[in-house]
Amino acid sequence: MVSYKELGLVNTREMFAKAVKGGYAIPAFNFNTMEQMQAIVQAAVETKSPVIMQVSKGARKYANPTILRYMAQGAVEYAKELGCANPQIVLHLDHGDSFETCKSCIDSGFSSVMIDGSSLPFEENIALTKQVVEYAHQHDVTVEAELGVLAGVEDEVAAEESHYTKPEEVIEFSQKTGCDSLAISIGTSHGAYKFKPEQCTRDPKTGKLIPPPLAFDVLKAVEEKLPGFPIVLHGSSSVPQEYVDIINANGGKLPDAVGIPEEQLRQAAKSAVCKINIDSDSRLAMTAAIRKHFAEHPEHFDPRQYLSPARDEMKKLYIHKIVNVLGSNDKL
Ligand SMILES: [Zn+2]
Repeated sequence: MVSYKELGLVNTREMFAKAVKGGYAIPAFNFNTMEQMQAIVQAAVETKSPVIMQVSKGARKYANPTILRYMAQGAVEYAKELGCANPQIVLHLDHGDSFETCKSCIDSGFSSVMIDGSSLPFEENIALTKQVVEYAHQHDVTVEAELGVLAGVEDEVAAEESHYTKPEEVIEFSQKTGCDSLAISIGTSHGAYKFKPEQCTRDPKTGKLIPPPLAFDVLKAVEEKLPGFPIVLHGSSSVPQEYVDIINANGGKLPDAVGIPEEQLRQAAKSAVCKINIDSDSRLAMTAAIRKHFAEHPEHFDPRQYLSPARDEMKKLYIHKIVNVLGSNDKL
């Protein structure tokens, strides 16, 4: 049993309270590799932002739970080395699928977990979430739950259709479960193909897809039911077209990849939405940089040669999100 406190991590309680009050959102960046972790820490330190480093069950398996624990500890120490006296870093489990997975993460140094019972019937979601909350709170670990279903594909989480969160359920759910934050479905979606072309309109000039707008009325109704309660948005990558274009121009094949416009996320961040999940954008930044590098330097084979520009590009992306979309800069 390792407590996250020994690793220098923090839970989300205080940072969410401040974010809701201050009208900004905390970035939750998924990571699998050392380069992503370095880029996240560099960006958070340079912008003086709290940050959530999150891993899915699949990423945990990919990295190995033991290595991950030391990477998280390393992230805290690295932030200090870069000059941040008091780093606010959360290690969060994204889409925990069972009590056992959540318990295993809590026992191995996570400071926050998500239990995703959103595919279960309402009462079963409550029972499972409550079980996780009871164990987590014994260890001062915070818990994110989910109501409503997001469409799209993210590691082992996949759904064909989205179902918006029903605002009339949120009070009962939060009271009965005791969860610390709630992920809701208002039209964001997992992956780099968030919407099918037939759900979008097409810009007549560029031919690019324009996605349907988020359901801000649902968000507003949830906020009215639970004033000040921390709300989370999943599937909130914007799928920058410049990355998609670089990938496609250098041997890639990502037709009609489309994300959530940043303007809408900026608007959400000012509300009770206090955590915004971004995964695909970092994958795209990394892949675009690597593809471009190989196209320009076909003779290179040292991973440092192509992973350095990939890391720099991800850092640039993270800083952009923190400063221009979430507004979490200068909050340490
Ligand atoms: Zn998600």
